[in-house]
Amino acid sequence: MNRNHFWKVLWTIALFLAVAPFAWADGESSPGRDPKQPVDEAYTAKMKKYTTAPYFTSPLVDYLPASSNVPTPEAVLGDVAGAPGILPYAEDVYKYMRMLEKASPRVKVISIGTTEEGREMIAVAVTSEENLKKLEENRARLAKLADPRTINSDDSEADKLVAQSTPVYYITGTIHSPETGAPTALMELAYRLAVDESPYIKDIRDGVITLITPVVEVDGRDRVVDIYKWHLAHPKDFYPPLIYWGKYVAHDNNRDAMGMTLKLTQNVLNTYVDWKAQVLHDLHESVPYLYDNTVGDGPYNAWIDPILADEWNMIASRNVADMTKFGMPGVFTHGDFDTWSPGYLMFLAALHNGISRLYETFGNGNADTRERTLEPEEYARTWFKQNPPLPKTLWSQRDNNNYEETGLLVSLHYFNENKRLFLKNFYLKAKRSVTKPGTEGPAAYVLPADEPRGTLQADLLQVLQKQKVEISRAKSAITIALPVKKEKKKEGEKSAEAKDEKKEPTTRSFPAGSFVIRMDQPYSRIADALLDHQYWSPEDPQKTPYDDTGWTFGELFGVQVVRVTDAKILDAPMERVGEVRAAGGVKGDGTIFAINNHAEPALATLRYKLKDATIEAAEEAFDAGGAKFARGTFLIRDAKRAEVESAAKELGLQVSALGAAPNVKTHPVRAARIAYVHTWLSTQTEGWWRLALDSLQIPYEYMSTQAIGKIPDLRAKYDVILFPPVGINASATAIIQGLPTAWGNPLPWKTTELTPNLVGKNDSTDDMRPGLGYDGLTKLQSFVQNGGVLLTVDDTAQFALSVGMGAGVNAARSEKMKIVGAVVGTQLVDGASPIAYGYDEKISAYCDDGVIFSLSSVAGGRRRRRLGPDMKQRPTGRGTKDDPDFAVGRGGAEVPEEQESEVWEYPPLTPEQTHNNARVIPAANRARVVLRYANAKDLLISGLVDGGGEIAQHPAVIDMPVGQGHVVLFSINPVYRGETRGTYSLVLNTALNFDSLNAGRKDAAK
Ligand SMILES: [Zn+2]
Repeated sequence: MNRNHFWKVLWTIALFLAVAPFAWADGESSPGRDPKQPVDEAYTAKMKKYTTAPYFTSPLVDYLPASSNVPTPEAVLGDVAGAPGILPYAEDVYKYMRMLEKASPRVKVISIGTTEEGREMIAVAVTSEENLKKLEENRARLAKLADPRTINSDDSEADKLVAQSTPVYYITGTIHSPETGAPTALMELAYRLAVDESPYIKDIRDGVITLITPVVEVDGRDRVVDIYKWHLAHPKDFYPPLIYWGKYVAHDNNRDAMGMTLKLTQNVLNTYVDWKAQVLHDLHESVPYLYDNTVGDGPYNAWIDPILADEWNMIASRNVADMTKFGMPGVFTHGDFDTWSPGYLMFLAALHNGISRLYETFGNGNADTRERTLEPEEYARTWFKQNPPLPKTLWSQRDNNNYEETGLLVSLHYFNENKRLFLKNFYLKAKRSVTKPGTEGPAAYVLPADEPRGTLQADLLQVLQKQKVEISRAKSAITIALPVKKEKKKEGEKSAEAKDEKKEPTTRSFPAGSFVIRMDQPYSRIADALLDHQYWSPEDPQKTPYDDTGWTFGELFGVQVVRVTDAKILDAPMERVGEVRAAGGVKGDGTIFAINNHAEPALATLRYKLKDATIEAAEEAFDAGGAKFARGTFLIRDAKRAEVESAAKELGLQVSALGAAPNVKTHPVRAARIAYVHTWLSTQTEGWWRLALDSLQIPYEYMSTQAIGKIPDLRAKYDVILFPPVGINASATAIIQGLPTAWGNPLPWKTTELTPNLVGKNDSTDDMRPGLGYDGLTKLQSFVQNGGVLLTVDDTAQFALSVGMGAGVNAARSEKMKIVGAVVGTQLVDGASPIAYGYDEKISAYCDDGVIFSLSSVAGGRRRRRLGPDMKQRPTGRGTKDDPDFAVGRGGAEVPEEQESEVWEYPPLTPEQTHNNARVIPAANRARVVLRYANAKDLLISGLVDGGGEIAQHPAVIDMPVGQGHVVLFSINPVYRGETRGTYSLVLNTALNFDSLNAGRKDAAK
């Protein structure tokens, strides 16, 4: 059967289905057009033309109702939504939404903020004229349901409000820029909701406020449209991959719902909370043809209300059922996705008492119609996919739009039919958040007022405030009872013996001014989820966690957070605080200004701010003016008090003015000139580093690996080169060679008339394919030889080692170990290293299957392995276990004592190894281990650590001397998703002390 004939047959079947009545639930209106309302015939014909198979549409979207005054999307697009070859810029989408607003009293467009590059974000409300008129009254009712404290948690009052209220269903489109279908689907959906008079759509319009943000990642949308235009202009060429989406990150823009560092996350949460929405439904494209992945697979996030898990199931199963009845293949809800991490945009709703939803529909990456071939696991029929996708099909953006709109319409309709239930649940979830201290607890979290890291504490509290969490401050000291630990009696242990054990304290006190995060507030769940510890069992049936497994914010910010179960804390006198800011200023008299070092990133900001001041770091701890100052304390000279005072106040740093310089060895702290290197392979993981530096106002020059080879003298221009992780386990070969250039065409990433949005404030190139090259590699090596510092992390650390920078450090990957985006324990090995300034003995850090470093005392050697059995005990022979053996016929020989070494240390050399061995690394050329991973039993702080013994005790941060300079190697990722601020200073310390990294080194070269 040729394809045309095949489709004709299918269309005939579809026409038959379209007239067959749908059996729908009692009292519910059936889907399908109102015969009395005329259809826009031309538009409908085109929709049909672009739909590649009859079962890729539904009675809800296989026609477009006509309107005499409201323009269809064609007015802006020049064709129908989902037409091949057409991807509108965000601006065009907005233009259309504003045309709708002008033409229809059922549409309202609001601006919800801007992006990092200054582009506007909008939300479009579509509902009946009556509802739009009463928006504010309705919002006031929803606000009471959202905060049950306002109605004294009176259920009968809540019932009245539920009966009177119109719920809000918030839909967000195209957060992921290569997932291109949503904007046109949402333009058409808005039109349908405003114009269609069929009972099915009218029910939705009258009963629900549909709120739409058609483009979430606006900066990325404009870039993907540029690339598409380039592709259409060069149809035979390969087109450039979308290397940048937003200004900072790509796919990870959907992992920011914890850290709240991106504008898009903040704008969407503000809108969701301001409108008191019940649902946040985020649209994605990757899975054929519609995967409602809300239900997914376990484990579910432990902090959500179980009511939500039931709501996910209710809505999703009806969603699948309705679309299955329409005969649309490939619609399902179970599958690969665990809903553990709360980092996804949709999770803003899940942990703010709403309902989170997410669609994966199918897309081609742009508006081309293409034949798509699926993998066997994608088209296999499984218990949850009874009508699976087709192994091979022609797929169009119109098909995508049909699926997206149909899914949304059946969801909206079902939501409206059950809105009293969902509104009541919305209230109940808020009420259960408020009663949390008396049910599952805890009662509160406390961040003590005597926190030495005041700026990091303020940072953490500000994240919670962005999350709309209320923060209070204790008016006087608070003493709370600590939870009694249940003692596990060991077998055979007598109760009398237990008496000797040290008694644990039973109370704890916090000074006045301590911050209290009460759990009797409507948004207690998000605070609890961020501040609590996570445990993912290695025995969990889910073997492939979808994302990070641990994130405990107190640990990652390096500040004290105390979980308090004693409900009496809620009676302590305290008051709500406005925006939290760390208190800074100058105390005392004198012209030397000392700032204690507690590894606060604000210190680096200060260094760059006071660019003309002389700043030194104390190499040892000292006492002055009756106070103790830690190693690394900043000593500022030649600065005006007023200048220091204003910077300290702005940054929240506490400064002590001293009458005389303390008697302590110091070295300069410099505003290092930083070059920041990225590849053209991926900019995703490094993007978080740029965001961190920008927010700290630390200047750097951003350049690609391609630029390195073209700079005549790197060392003359820069002191430090940051080479953050590429993030894709990039090999040295990939970093050096880039993409193949022996064939194909150049892949330009530049601003042209055709592509005006591509570059923005990021980097550009005529051809993305070449990598660092051997010229670049040589330049990088001589930069370090000549005294520069190269900072590398994970895959870039592996790169530095594999191209022969430094000697005696090996890097390996484990096949078995599973540390999946977890918080792990590390420990200082050499606190005298400037890299460690301000840190305590134990540091929590983020690790994702980090590279395993080990040391070798011999260049080119591996860590010494013993061959044969481990002979720590005496061999078989005469005597008792502790006796010396003998050899018959001669006296016993004395066995030379073997030197032991720790895992993070250089293995001692044997006399045999040292004999005439040019490869033995002299002490001064050896690497200095600054930080190591904790012992195996202390490795897990939060998340999943399985087989951690392989990395336990191994170096986590290494300072490797190379020529006059240094290569600093990280196995942990110290700068990640705005969540790891406690480890930022490991990077900043490296930069500020670049020419004194050997300070405190016992065996440094002279
Ligand atoms: Zn996506």
